[in-house]
Amino acid sequence: MNRIKAALKKYWGYDEFLPLQEQAIGSVIAGRDSVVVMPTGGGKSICFQAPAVTLPGLAIVISPLISLMKDQVDALTECGVPAARLDSTRSAGEQNAVKALIRKRELKLLYISPERIVSPGFFESLDKPAISLIAVDEAHCVSMWGHDFRPEYRQLGFLKQTFPQVAIHAYTATATERVRKDIATQLRLDNPEVLVGSFDRPNLVYKVERRRDGLNQVCAVLDRHQNETGIIYCIRRADVDEMCAALAARGYNVAPYHAGMEDEDRKRSQEAFIREKVATIVATIAFGMGIDKSNVRYVIHTGMPKSLEHYQQQSGRAGRDGLEAECSLFYSGADYGVWKYILRDSEPEAGKIALAKLNDIYHYCAGVTCRHRAILNYFGQDLDKDDCGACDVCLGDLDCVENPLEIGQKVISCILRLGERFGADHTTLVLSGSRDERILKKGHDALSTYGLLSDFKRRVVRDWVEQLVAQGYVRKAGEFNVLNVTGKGRRLLEGTETPRLLKPAEKKRRRISRAARDSWEGVDENLFEALRSLRRQIADRKHVPAFHVFSDATLRDMARLKPATPEGFLEVRGVGEMKCEQYSTAFLAAIRQHRDGEQPGPAPLPQTD
Ligand code: ADP
Ligand code: ZN
Repeated sequence: MNRIKAALKKYWGYDEFLPLQEQAIGSVIAGRDSVVVMPTGGGKSICFQAPAVTLPGLAIVISPLISLMKDQVDALTECGVPAARLDSTRSAGEQNAVKALIRKRELKLLYISPERIVSPGFFESLDKPAISLIAVDEAHCVSMWGHDFRPEYRQLGFLKQTFPQVAIHAYTATATERVRKDIATQLRLDNPEVLVGSFDRPNLVYKVERRRDGLNQVCAVLDRHQNETGIIYCIRRADVDEMCAALAARGYNVAPYHAGMEDEDRKRSQEAFIREKVATIVATIAFGMGIDKSNVRYVIHTGMPKSLEHYQQQSGRAGRDGLEAECSLFYSGADYGVWKYILRDSEPEAGKIALAKLNDIYHYCAGVTCRHRAILNYFGQDLDKDDCGACDVCLGDLDCVENPLEIGQKVISCILRLGERFGADHTTLVLSGSRDERILKKGHDALSTYGLLSDFKRRVVRDWVEQLVAQGYVRKAGEFNVLNVTGKGRRLLEGTETPRLLKPAEKKRRRISRAARDSWEGVDENLFEALRSLRRQIADRKHVPAFHVFSDATLRDMARLKPATPEGFLEVRGVGEMKCEQYSTAFLAAIRQHRDGEQPGPAPLPQTD
């Protein structure tokens, strides 16, 4: 373990392991099969990369996507670790070069696509290297219960037969028990050690708002993140095009991405995003798998995803570097309707499950409990603190009304007076005392509950109705979502149950999230900006993504410690020997310049478009 710690420092520049990394590495050293479940950004790759460097022999890594493999191999090369990949895109010459390295025993990690590894005669062609370990990345792909099922992964069971003496380690971020079991069975693991990390992502700040004027709400998030990159998810392709055009018209630097675009255009958008030529990508869920960009600072959902699994996966693309990132979700009851409509055609069993998941995420959106806790509970875990310090509920962006019982009773009585035959919009109009034709025609202005909540903005009343639905006091029934009062709702009316109802915060006493406070602590922000632009210049010159040079976390630590010597530079978290050698001169010069007051300023980029 000490040798591995030394390697962690030498190649990656880290002093400590992240939670669970040491245990996961423990099973690799012990040669015991393992299934390791860590959330995105938990640092799974180090679990097999660090031991691979120190153990004798060659580590085989199976990864489902060529882009992911390329990314990891490039990142390893940047750190000075001998790694290579074999997949269908390599030319015969490139493949031979890799094989020559294997023959000379000069390689520590070999990334292989599942198609390639299951092809007959593959291992024979490698000249029998000694294999240190086998790592299966994104291992949920073996399971039909996972969301990215890959048939070739099913065949990976042959590995255990062919190499009974080599331990196999499976890594995934997918939480469910069912998928975990499936992984062990399909890969024929032998009494594997199962390690499951906490799914909490404390650096993600979750916010949920009802969608009102979608565009302005989205702009408000973008304005909070100037000079930072992020993703906007829309439900439909048409929404992507529309949102993209609207944002571009307002001067935001955006690019679209969805399955309906030409391959070329899509690739260009993705490339521009990764190289930080565009700040924001507007996309359907087609975007994401295989994107390894670690400094995504915000993920916005302009509509409600169809399950919390989807939400966790998509929002999880933010903040993989461990620094604070914002996940804002704008939802409306209409999204629920859209999904319900889409699900109508699914076969009964699957449809029932999908509808249950839809209800769960809807309750999450309209709910008023800590978002971190709600998500964790959904995945069967609990939060170990009362105040997460990183969600709209805990940060006090939302205030609770003082008299929720009274308000709740007014809403419930109104629903009953309406004979439980009307939807949320109509009920809201009655409660707010609207002169709308629909109300007057039906004579609903004569109801005793008419205008009971006319002191409040209509959209606030509408929100309360949804919150009562989310908390189980009211149910939406039938094709038209008419409101029914549940047993719990009747108890509310009797005064034996009290709901929690929110009002939008009037006083802007926004607390800053804990993650943001910690990660900016002591950082010279001007220097950080200067280092960022230097990083971009270097990345452009080398044609690699900026975060491959250094992560945002590393730049902040640099702008905190302000090292003056190469030795000091090595102390920065995320600076290993190889990167120190390559980059210390340029970055130390920038730090010196900054200290001497000669602001380098944003240096001109070699090529901009
Ligand atoms: P995952 O594959 O689980 O999403 P990664 O392996 O991409 O996560 O790691 C996420 C981030 O955490 C990367 O930027 C990585 O460099 C960083 N990281 C990994 N291990 C450590 C560590 N021990 N200390 C600090 N940062 C780490
Ligand atoms: Zn919270």
